[in-house]
Amino acid sequence: AKSMGRGDYQFYNSEMNASTLHRLTLESGLRHAVERDELQLTYQPQVELVSGRIVGVEVLLRWHPEQQRLVMPDVFIPIAEETGLIVPIGEWVLRTACSQLVAWRQAGLPDVRIAVNLSARQFRQPGLDDMVSRVLADTGCHAGCLELEITETVLMERPDSAAQALQRLSDMGVRLAIDDFGTGYSSLSYLKRFPIHALKIDRSFVRDIPYDADDAAIAGAVVAVAHSMGLSVVAEGVETLAQCEFLRGLHCDHAQGYYFSQPLNAAALASLLRDGLVT
Ligand code: C2E
Ligand code: CA
Ligand code: CA
Ligand code: CA
Repeated sequence: AKSMGRGDYQFYNSEMNASTLHRLTLESGLRHAVERDELQLTYQPQVELVSGRIVGVEVLLRWHPEQQRLVMPDVFIPIAEETGLIVPIGEWVLRTACSQLVAWRQAGLPDVRIAVNLSARQFRQPGLDDMVSRVLADTGCHAGCLELEITETVLMERPDSAAQALQRLSDMGVRLAIDDFGTGYSSLSYLKRFPIHALKIDRSFVRDIPYDADDAAIAGAVVAVAHSMGLSVVAEGVETLAQCEFLRGLHCDHAQGYYFSQPLNAAALASLLRDGLVT
């Protein structure tokens, strides 16, 4: 038993070292990801439920280190956050996305909005609004075509300074959406203090509708409250026709998910836009 205990300890130790090493490798790789051109944007359509038209695209970041497998954002975004690398990476994402939008428009494709995720660190970075307005000016992207997604948790951590930061962005004409709505615990009265335009119902509430009565009730309540406050609603993670029809019945405005399309590269998204409808 003794020797087994010791073996366990060593095993645990080497596991820990392996994961620390892995993390350090990712971290040092990420430091060079922008300059080595290893970051790529993918674009997932957001569809208007009444018409089936693509009205927006969410930008989702991918990291493809040379000679290695694709790394998903759930793995590298937390590292980018902790190291502060998210600040230059986030600016690159915004700039690339805005340039892409302008390029699509110049190619004569139907107009869409572009939704870009902002992390906690970026959101709290002084000068965020200056960075955003500089990128819009440099790329020639209209502020009204840009939507920034900020999670409910980030907003609720410091609601007062969050409200100020949102106000500065909103004054520039940028649209604001609360991401992962329903997973935090914002009281609805707080919502009124934020100059926001849209709520995104978190995927976890969409997954089991229409069969799960609680989730169905939550989705219905979110849509009703949002509409009563003049906000539009996007349901995320829509994978089935049944979910889609249920949400349409709730008068949910927009939906996004594998039912319509996976996140696509710019060329594939452009051909979807050219065709107009996704279903
Ligand atoms: P998110 O903002 O909630 O993005 C939605 C996630 O759901 C994406 O995962 C998307 O690919 C996935 N998804 C879309 N439709 C479906 C569906 O029908 N079913 C399921 N099961 N999943 C679906 P992804 O691309 O892996 O991104 C994960 C998270 O990483 C994002 O969650 C976001 O928080 C973060 N992220 C991605 N790109 C960026 C970025 O450029 N900047 C920052 N700060 N965060 C990013
Ligand atoms: Ca998002
Ligand atoms: Ca989300
Ligand atoms: Ca999420």
